[in-house]
Amino acid sequence: MEIDKEQYGKGLRKLAALEAEGVEITKQMEEAFLSSVHVERTRLWRLRHPDRVARNKEIASVAGRELKIEVLTHYGRGEFTCVVCGENRFACLTLDHIKGRDKGDKKHGNALYRRLRKDNYPEGFRTLCMNCQWVKRYENGEFR
Ligand SMILES: [Zn+2]
Repeated sequence: MEIDKEQYGKGLRKLAALEAEGVEITKQMEEAFLSSVHVERTRLWRLRHPDRVARNKEIASVAGRELKIEVLTHYGRGEFTCVVCGENRFACLTLDHIKGRDKGDKKHGNALYRRLRKDNYPEGFRTLCMNCQWVKRYENGEFR
């Protein structure tokens, strides 16, 4: 499978034709075009290098696990366990926003863990297992 250069050529010619018609080519239009090229290149690279894709995944998952352990250990008061019940299985543990999630804050999972570590572990979070999360939601009347 090859990059369809003709397709890219068409995209570029279309932009040029629009410009010739007096249409203002916005930064957004340019970026949409460039991003479609980038997505295609990435897709093809992944198809050609399955070994490196697998290796990158592995590195990311190891680093991701270490990050989760580090952050949840901090918010578990020095232990990688639920602060309510003591559950310590990796898959069960989550980060609880003690006073609820800030509606504007879309970060969760590793992106949130990274930010918290970078911000030197602000208060307002604790390590809970998913069962204790469900209990908290139930007690807060978050179930319909
Ligand atoms: Zn728990």
